[in-house]
Amino acid sequence: MQTDFDILIIGGGMVGASLACALRASGLRIGVVEAVPPRAPAQPSYDDRSVTLIPGSRRIFEAIGVWREIERQGVTPIEHMHISDRGHCGFARFAAADAGVPALGYVVENRALGAALWQAQQELKNVEWLCPATLESIEFRPETAVVAINQDGARRALSTRLVVAADGTDSPARAAAGIETTRTEYKQVAVVVNVTPGRPHANTAYERFTAAGPLALVPLRDGRCAVVWCMGAPDAEAILKCGDEEFLARLHERFGARLGRFTRPGRRAAYPLFLARARELARPRLALVGNAARTLHPIAAQGFNLGLRDVATLAEVVPEAARAARDIGDHDVMRRYAERRRWDNLATVAFTDGLLRIFSNDFPPLVLARDLGLIAVDLLPPVKRALVQLAGGQALWQ
Ligand SMILES: Cc1cc2nc3c(=O)[nH]c(=O)nc-3n(C[C@H](O)[C@H](O)[C@H](O)COP(=O)(O)OP(=O)(O)OC[C@H]3O[C@@H](n4cnc5c(N)ncnc54)[C@H](O)[C@@H]3O)c2cc1C
Repeated sequence: MQTDFDILIIGGGMVGASLACALRASGLRIGVVEAVPPRAPAQPSYDDRSVTLIPGSRRIFEAIGVWREIERQGVTPIEHMHISDRGHCGFARFAAADAGVPALGYVVENRALGAALWQAQQELKNVEWLCPATLESIEFRPETAVVAINQDGARRALSTRLVVAADGTDSPARAAAGIETTRTEYKQVAVVVNVTPGRPHANTAYERFTAAGPLALVPLRDGRCAVVWCMGAPDAEAILKCGDEEFLARLHERFGARLGRFTRPGRRAAYPLFLARARELARPRLALVGNAARTLHPIAAQGFNLGLRDVATLAEVVPEAARAARDIGDHDVMRRYAERRRWDNLATVAFTDGLLRIFSNDFPPLVLARDLGLIAVDLLPPVKRALVQLAGGQALWQ
């Protein structure tokens, strides 16, 4: 049966746009339905945040032909990492050189990633962007899905073999299929801001675990650092309201003197933190990717990295089915995608959630155990190397 598109991706944020690139050589006709133009200041995916990419994500971007453009837009390699348990004795240091890797990770500003992905879209002959356009409804039929969108105030109905929900945490596409989610509130808010430290950051990333929530500082271009500071909601309200001087003083008090005095704070933004998980990753004619599948706490910088692995798997499974002249949205193909994503999804969610629980607990035996763990890691180079390789995605994406 002839359809308007083979695949309709709902959401052209970081994950949806990456999927469009990953399907460039598939020969399939792709549509991307996106509510907010990628270069618009209000674009929710490409906002003032920065994303830390693990080396495995770099390899995926290289494979789908986007890494060069990301480099052109600006990437900061992480060469050292310092993890500490504030107020306790535990800490661990990692160096890319010790682990024999070029970098422990790569920091890209979300707007730069958006610009790179948008530039890459210009070369895609098989991809049509329907933007600005919003999803209104989806009717799932045995052999097709009919997607109703609102574009320029007019309703359009588009038929497709497969719908991909890449429309973020609240995913209207997931809701249209009736897939339920579970949600755990962390009762924390992440305050995000860019600052300039008094001393050079030397391409070092810091993760400070504190009783009130983790504080991460990652290196950016031009000597700046991106701060992700997690705290209770009332504290966040005060931190967002206070003047720049007071904000910088509080940040200095929480982070310590290692990088000197911070100056030139950028705009502060807040993100409520929770774990949300879809009960299913796929149904006939529908696959979930990125935040539509799950939304994680940013403590371990895993959310987008995990979403990119959804992209890599879907971009393997679907073209494989197309080459075998199979229906790309049928039950077996979607089940194969869901099965291949199951363990990575479960493991990454458990790792992120577990890390947060271990480090936000002040029960003395647990504090002792985690600090001994950090010190042991710091003193045992083979353990350190193995951790760097695992965290870099070596075991997950060769
Ligand atoms: C503070 C913070 C720091 C983070 N740091 C990291 C990090 O360092 N590393 C990491 O891996 N992850 C990180 N993450 C997670 C990362 O930001 C997300 O995993 C990522 O943004 C998910 O991308 P997405 O494309 O799935 O969803 P989104 O970014 O939410 O994009 C969804 C897109 O769908 C569009 N859309 C929504 N509804 C509709 C509709 N009805 N019709 C059409 N379009 C629609 C939206 O406009 C948007 O463009 C962080 C998250 C936070 C909050």
